Amino acid sequence: MKWKYRCSECGKEFPLEPGVYVCDECSAYQKHDEPLRGILECTIEVNPKERKRILQLEEDLPDPVPYDFQPNVQVGYTPMHSPFRLQKKYGFDRLYIKDDTCEPTASYKDRASYLVAGFAIQHGIKEIALASTGNAASSMAGIGAGAGLNVTVFLPKTAPIAKRIQVLQYGAKLIEVDGTYDKAFDECLAYCKEHNVLCRNTAYNPLTIEGKKTAAIEICSLIHPDHVFVPAGDGVILSGLYKGFEELYDFEFIRKMPTLWACQAEGSSALARAYSRLTSDKKAILYDKSNNKFAGAPHEEHPWRKYFDVVPSTTLADSISVDIPRNGYHALKQLNKYNGKTVTVSDSEILEAQKELASLTGVFAEPSSATVLAGFKKASAEIPRSAVVVLLVTGSGLKDIASAAKGLGL
Ligand SMILES: *Cc1c(COP(=O)(O)O)cnc(C)c1O
Repeated sequence: MKWKYRCSECGKEFPLEPGVYVCDECSAYQKHDEPLRGILECTIEVNPKERKRILQLEEDLPDPVPYDFQPNVQVGYTPMHSPFRLQKKYGFDRLYIKDDTCEPTASYKDRASYLVAGFAIQHGIKEIALASTGNAASSMAGIGAGAGLNVTVFLPKTAPIAKRIQVLQYGAKLIEVDGTYDKAFDECLAYCKEHNVLCRNTAYNPLTIEGKKTAAIEICSLIHPDHVFVPAGDGVILSGLYKGFEELYDFEFIRKMPTLWACQAEGSSALARAYSRLTSDKKAILYDKSNNKFAGAPHEEHPWRKYFDVVPSTTLADSISVDIPRNGYHALKQLNKYNGKTVTVSDSEILEAQKELASLTGVFAEPSSATVLAGFKKASAEIPRSAVVVLLVTGSGLKDIASAAKGLGL
């Protein structure tokens, strides 16, 4: 079995090793006000014998980091709830919740941190740095502590207090940035280059996408979903899930790709806006599905750049509040390839859904994650009642008490 990286724009291949992050050719054209260019995807070559073994034993799909190097921390295998009061209320008997509030640091980000930590251990790397709006930082700090790695985080001063406290409790080095996430992102890149440190910036490090595929595998070990609701900011969770479902489909564990719904806040909806522009553009340059690259790539200007405008985000759902979705081009490509959907919800709909989810199911979600219930409520008229639906709840409500208090009118 052989792993490598492949550029999601031009198809150029790279070895899966330290120091490789984005495609050198496509990223050379990177502009400051657009999603990341040249995002790399992990790909695997399996020979027919290996393929047969995976199919016959129904063993887990392979990981790019060998099992022996994976940190000794329990990540993933989170509960799937069958919430009967919610099912009854909406008339969907097969509505489920995948509950990632139960991750060790209480967010979905642990799935990515786990793989990045394993990669560091495999290659003898001692320090990992990252920029974050909050959860990625608390996650890497926690998983890093368990794995015995040094972690440095660049966090905007506006991050919710609970997430900053987590970072400090786990013993990571906290560098507070007086400015936006974008500024933190750039400062972190400079730091990693200067100190030769492994960078876990989301989307930029391809393993952050790969690590986020595992929930798809866990879901399909129990049920085969028709619709999955996913919160989306940078669109990395969305891409990770697509990768997971795609591999499950390739290895014939599932017979069809589910419909993914990217749930966004109205005040931070760059992906939804871009997708609607792309699908209504009759002259759009489309991704070449059979060759798995954009025809004519590498392009100096990304053919989809015009679909992304920069509108300063204004939502209280901090984890999905982004001006420029880092993984925008790649996520848009997968939405387009698999006829995905987007749905946007207002902050008051988010707070209402947060309370509804907690009081009807016992799952207390942070605002970003409550978008999946708010989004489902809006979309449910388009979905047959017999469908198998999964709401992916990505983070705990205890991480942002101030927003929850607002929802309660306190
Ligand atoms: C990061 C995060 C998201 C959004 O993920 P993206 O990959 O940025 O789309 C959603 N929910 C929680 C709890 C998060 O921490």
